[in-house]
Amino acid sequence: MLQKLLHYRWFRGSKVLALGAFGITLLPQMALLGLSYVHALTYERNELQSIASLSARQMTSLIRAAEITLKDLETYFSQDRLNDARHLQLLQRTVYRDPRFREIGVVNEAGALYLTSLGFIEPPILLQDRARLDLSKKELQILGPLTTQVMQERSLVLALPTQGQGEINILVDPILLSHWLEINGLELGPDGYIAFVRTADQEIIDGAGQLPREGNILSAQPARDRLQLSQSLDDIGVTIVVNVSRAWILRDWRSFFQLGVPIALLSSSLMALAAGHFVALKAQMEQDLRKAIASDELELYYQPILDIETEQCVGAEALIRWQHATRGLLLPDAFIPLTEKTKLIVKIGEWVIKQVLQTQADLLKKNPHLYISVNLSPVQITSEAHSKRILSLLTTHPEIAPHLLFEITENVLVEDAQMHIPEALASIRACGAKLALDDFGSGYCGINYLSKLNVDYLKIDRKFVSGSDVTAQTATVLEGIIDLGNRLQMTVVAEGVETEAQRQTLIKKGVRYGQGYLWSRPMPAHEFALFVADSSPL
Ligand code: C2E
Ligand code: CA
Ligand code: CA
Repeated sequence: MLQKLLHYRWFRGSKVLALGAFGITLLPQMALLGLSYVHALTYERNELQSIASLSARQMTSLIRAAEITLKDLETYFSQDRLNDARHLQLLQRTVYRDPRFREIGVVNEAGALYLTSLGFIEPPILLQDRARLDLSKKELQILGPLTTQVMQERSLVLALPTQGQGEINILVDPILLSHWLEINGLELGPDGYIAFVRTADQEIIDGAGQLPREGNILSAQPARDRLQLSQSLDDIGVTIVVNVSRAWILRDWRSFFQLGVPIALLSSSLMALAAGHFVALKAQMEQDLRKAIASDELELYYQPILDIETEQCVGAEALIRWQHATRGLLLPDAFIPLTEKTKLIVKIGEWVIKQVLQTQADLLKKNPHLYISVNLSPVQITSEAHSKRILSLLTTHPEIAPHLLFEITENVLVEDAQMHIPEALASIRACGAKLALDDFGSGYCGINYLSKLNVDYLKIDRKFVSGSDVTAQTATVLEGIIDLGNRLQMTVVAEGVETEAQRQTLIKKGVRYGQGYLWSRPMPAHEFALFVADSSPL
């Protein structure tokens, strides 16, 4: 898919960014998949550990119960007469009481099983060697797996040698282990198993699941594709082994992975596509703009600025427009930010001043007091090389420079106080041009800083005049701004005057000039010339 993408014509120019976007968005998604893999393994390892621990607890509890039961029975049998029906009753009651015990058997001194909880065995069955325990150790021993001779059930046998060389043993319920697993809701997969291994000879004595045929599972290195955990119960000589396949424990993760990878690739490709498209659009626009300057697609509109009380036109603000060949008339917000980033604004700014100088030369013939306001981008004045281009234009037109006003925004002044800006502004003023602080109130210009600046005009941001969020609070701020401007002997201009009511309010508050749709929208130079002609002579 990526290969295909890279062949799109518009995409070629922005390969690096597109690949960057692809990588940057793919990386976290892949990291997430990797993390989820580690999490799945850790989670399952913990699960296996809990299975092993739980089984260890259950096994220990079983052994302890068997030990107590067998010792009690041995005491009872040693004190009493044999062949008594009460013995059978006792065994039956004991088996009945603890569901973990399937059967209890009693072996006499000759090694013959003569009594079980199912009844007396006539004649007694002589036990094979394998089924006998070490009579020299008078403690509980685990035998098995054994197949009982009476009921032919294969399971674990817990046996205790008696004083008189006989033994009593308990046959553990053969389904106990799988029952434990079931009630604990544990899953080991189709080929997983849990095994109780005698630690000494590593023989499997019991278990559940797909138990291996070979007994030696503890010493064997678990296969790479399997996960194995063991827990030894030292005091009873048993080790619990839990073994499952990785495929089983990663089954959920695998479906997440199978779904996640295409999604990750798709979303990253889309991001790459969007990034490439965005860059290509920007590059196209930059190219178009360069052409626009050459082919007269840029035009300056003029928005009248009036004495707010007499409504006489005192000047205009030059506002740039771009008559784009395919996109129609573009407002400055659609392209000025890009020109600032690419520094193309320096060239455009120069063009603006040249245009204004030309227009103003004509206008001044009939209106000698008219001033034109020009917006300055910070880029145009942050370096000496750039500001020189403005200054050379102003010095070659010394008769027009005093009729120009340069608008700068307050944020620029605060942010770039250390740079070339104050110097550039002072040079512009030295040419006779005036300065205005634009959009005042929307930024963070400190009052202290403002008082040090040699700015002649203060333009109040339109959000304080006609913005949708004009409230009692903003009205108070507006009064403060007007008061501040007047005290610092700056001429206050209100932007965005749209209604007669707003005009009346501003007059009351002491604003000198106004600009806004109440009088006129920005218009081409020739229309503005007519507008001025209609306005009473200054
Ligand atoms: P700005 O300097 O604050 O210009 C005033 C904007 O408010 C203009 O938008 C104007 O059309 C609009 N406006 C005027 N009266 C009203 C009104 O009553 N109500 C409302 N809602 N709006 C009003 P525009 O022409 O779209 O200019 C936008 C911004 O582009 C300007 O904001 C200025 O920062 C920038 N700009 C325009 N021309 C140039 C230029 O030649 N050079 C540079 N560097 N920036 C420029
Ligand atoms: Ca402005
Ligand atoms: Ca403004």
